[in-house]
Amino acid sequence: MVKCQVVMDALERIAPRHLAEDWDNPGLLVGSPAREVSRVLVALDVSDLVVRQAIREGAEMIVAHHPLLFKPIKKIRTDEPLGHRLQLLLQHDIAVAAAHTNLDIARGGVNDVLAEAIGLGKLSSFVITSQDDDGRVESLGRIGSLPQPMTIRDFAEQVKKALPTKYVRFVDAGDRPVRKVALCSGAGAEFIAKAAAMGADAYVTGDVRYHDAQHAAELGMHVIDAGHFGTEFPVVQVLAERLREELSTKGHVEVVTDHKSQDFFTIA
Ligand SMILES: [Zn+2]
Repeated sequence: MVKCQVVMDALERIAPRHLAEDWDNPGLLVGSPAREVSRVLVALDVSDLVVRQAIREGAEMIVAHHPLLFKPIKKIRTDEPLGHRLQLLLQHDIAVAAAHTNLDIARGGVNDVLAEAIGLGKLSSFVITSQDDDGRVESLGRIGSLPQPMTIRDFAEQVKKALPTKYVRFVDAGDRPVRKVALCSGAGAEFIAKAAAMGADAYVTGDVRYHDAQHAAELGMHVIDAGHFGTEFPVVQVLAERLREELSTKGHVEVVTDHKSQDFFTIA
């Protein structure tokens, strides 16, 4: 057993909280730092499915990418989905922590995992979020390059195969070969113009809407929407592995991963 705080300290070394965006809500969101933990369940979301897994598999703590609580809440109605989940978590004394934009931005976090999965190398910063006195920058997303140029169709196939998704949608902006690629895991459509301005041939993200696609086409840049789930779920295994390494000398604690969740979207 280790204290929940020991897991939080490990998480801090992997995804320091100061990296998070101002609007975000990472950290320990439910439970006590003093809680004894023998098993940690790592997941993308604290969904009902994940809460049931934690209960069934005896996990005293869930570490998720998406914060369970974002905005202040004025009522906890147990007949509503969030209230019911909180009730179950408290009844079973399960702690919940989140590493959200801090894990997106961190070295080896969501975006690095995505970049590696889809075959990008020579990674550099994309949307700068902070710069320290030594000039070290932190960024949301990455920009990198493929070892060889390829067509957008072949690259879209490669992205689909690399990620936990059955399909990708893409904007084919013409004959432009794909070599330089920008990416932002999750919902990154707001950075389409930035990716184009930085000279990306293609931009990989999730949650792309019609007018975002139109904008990309007008800018002459390919866009691949590989889904919010598809672009982020791969971090679950990597985060679990990093936590195992960090906790290996701290006491007996097992780190398991969510093996039930799938994308909410399916296709006909
Ligand atoms: Zn996300």
